[in-house]
Amino acid sequence: MDDRDWVFAPPATPSLEVQGGGRFPLRRVFCVGRNYAAHTREMGGNPDREPPFFFTKPADAVVPGPEIPYPTQCAKLHHEVELVVGLGSGGTEIPTNSALDHVFGYAVGVDLTRRDMQDEAKALRRPWDLSKGFDASAPTGMIVPVASIGHPKSGAITLAVDGAIRQSGDLADMIWTVPEIIAYLSRLVALAPGDLIFTGTPDGVGPLARGAHVECRVENVGKLDFTIR
Ligand code: MN
Repeated sequence: MDDRDWVFAPPATPSLEVQGGGRFPLRRVFCVGRNYAAHTREMGGNPDREPPFFFTKPADAVVPGPEIPYPTQCAKLHHEVELVVGLGSGGTEIPTNSALDHVFGYAVGVDLTRRDMQDEAKALRRPWDLSKGFDASAPTGMIVPVASIGHPKSGAITLAVDGAIRQSGDLADMIWTVPEIIAYLSRLVALAPGDLIFTGTPDGVGPLARGAHVECRVENVGKLDFTIR
């Protein structure tokens, strides 16, 4: 407890459980858009290797479940299962060939999206940050340390709703790899310990209704499941 003259108690540090013990304190959440060719096509984009683009979510939008509230004022909530990278150190202008040295661990996450709000914002050329960065918009499982699993470069990434597979891809199909994403992002911002990076979703994104049970898996990383309430 420091002795600064807070006018009210500072908010608690958002965090994730680490497999094997301890907690990973969260700083910022960066998300890569359109990083699998098949998903880029389903969203109407060009699947050629264009520079990556990024958006953000608040750190306190990261929640483990088991229940996720259906967002208010939303008619089309979409799921996007993603490999999540947790940084243990940071920097600027990080070279691609040493970028993985900054990764503490990996997790399974879902980039929940208010697709109705996002579509409207795109059509009106308005910012779409609130369609991505709303409360509880980043359900994320345990951080699994690199020390136990290394760096997953391929493996199945899946999401099922009420037992039916909706998304099924492979990490090897990312347009931009994890070290390339870290290197690119570190030229835009100073990356820091506690930063998370959502690395994009395979195709098959779709709507979630209230009561939907969502089960996600990333091979060799783990799983995440939650229910929409
Ligand atoms: Mn996404």
